[in-house]
Amino acid sequence: MTENIYRNMGISDALYNYASEVLAELEPRFAEIDKMAEINQMKVLAAMQKNQVSEACMLGTSGYGYSDIGRDTLERVYADVFHTEDALVRPQITCGTHALALALMSNLRPGDELLSPVGKPYDTLEEVIGIRDSKGSLKEYGISYRQVDLLADGTFDYDNIAKAINEKTKLVTIQRSKGYQTRPSFGVKEIGKLIKFVKDIKPDVICMVDNCYGEFVEALEPSDVGADMVVGSLIKNPGGGLAPIGGYIAGKQECVDNAAFRLTSPGLGKEVGASLGVLKDFYQGFFLAPTVVANAEKGAIFAASLYEKLGYLVIPTGTEERHDIIQAITLGSPEAVIAFCQGIQKSSPVDSHVFAEPWAMPGYDSDVIMAAGAFVSGSSIELSADAPIKPPYAVYFQGGLTWPHAKYGIMMSMQSLLNAGILAVDETNGKIVRKQ
Ligand SMILES: *Cc1c(COP(=O)(O)O)cnc(C)c1O
Repeated sequence: MTENIYRNMGISDALYNYASEVLAELEPRFAEIDKMAEINQMKVLAAMQKNQVSEACMLGTSGYGYSDIGRDTLERVYADVFHTEDALVRPQITCGTHALALALMSNLRPGDELLSPVGKPYDTLEEVIGIRDSKGSLKEYGISYRQVDLLADGTFDYDNIAKAINEKTKLVTIQRSKGYQTRPSFGVKEIGKLIKFVKDIKPDVICMVDNCYGEFVEALEPSDVGADMVVGSLIKNPGGGLAPIGGYIAGKQECVDNAAFRLTSPGLGKEVGASLGVLKDFYQGFFLAPTVVANAEKGAIFAASLYEKLGYLVIPTGTEERHDIIQAITLGSPEAVIAFCQGIQKSSPVDSHVFAEPWAMPGYDSDVIMAAGAFVSGSSIELSADAPIKPPYAVYFQGGLTWPHAKYGIMMSMQSLLNAGILAVDETNGKIVRKQ
């Protein structure tokens, strides 16, 4: 029966059969992911119960937002889930970059130095730091930056990290997810080792982790292994697909206070900032996030396995341990990445009739194609894919609010490669083969 449904939704029998074979092998892996979702679901639920989340918490405030019980309780829930002293969780934090910029700008002072011991940070942070000149950057405020690249095998260069730490070093920023690079993402335990190494050299340095795309993938978060601050976006993992905007900073009291005084105003801090109408979605999204992340991870593993078996380079592989929800697939040609993204777009619940095309985007040095048919604009916990149109022609994709949708979207990406003649069905045995 499902075969018929898929056929009516544009999936060929050969692809349906191939996908079914691949899926049969993934069952033990999926069971592990369900176990992780269970652990993290209990963690979130316990924090909600402990803080007595109530019906009144869903209502929200307007104006100054004094005594916003829903906002204040939600911040206690986040702090308990991340095991931190406090948290700032606000719709006034507009995106992940803003949350990271806020954490940095509020905790660094002129004359301080920022260190990234894990190589180049996420693209949008280049302008925050001033690696690329930009108005309002840390550099403009007299905050210097140092970077230690990863070793060729993707591990930390401890010798040079030790050399880079000096009397000015105030804050160390560690990006957990590879983002849109081909380096590996870091596990929470590895991050813990790096933090310990840094603190052994300089105990008072602030260790911040860019936690984007990593939340709830593991049982521990970086704040469980020594991070002073974890920072992320609510239109990624912790928003569970429901948060329509927002970012969070969870960490040491002083770090969170600094961020709050910078976000609103010295003297006002966390006391103001009306939650308007978003609280119910923030709570419900955070409650759903562990299972939504699991769905996205299943999609990523399914895609890795499906493409890997046809000989494509995938990072991470279908069997490797995962540390985030991003999947990279090197498809090797512009036609292939375009076809892939168009397949994802076509599978979307929103804008499925829209045709994704490569375009020049600010901040990128090549055209980029993006597929996103999301309920929340730009939300990348929803099934979405991006690819810069340049060698090695890799597509980065992530998300999927439900596993059946992630599965269908990935099958549609491959169907699109079949329809474009980049893949074909071998008539003798019905198997899918690469033409390029
Ligand atoms: C998405 C992301 C950011 C920036 O978040 P935006 O919400 O796009 O501004 C920063 N770091 C990493 C690793 C990310 O994945």
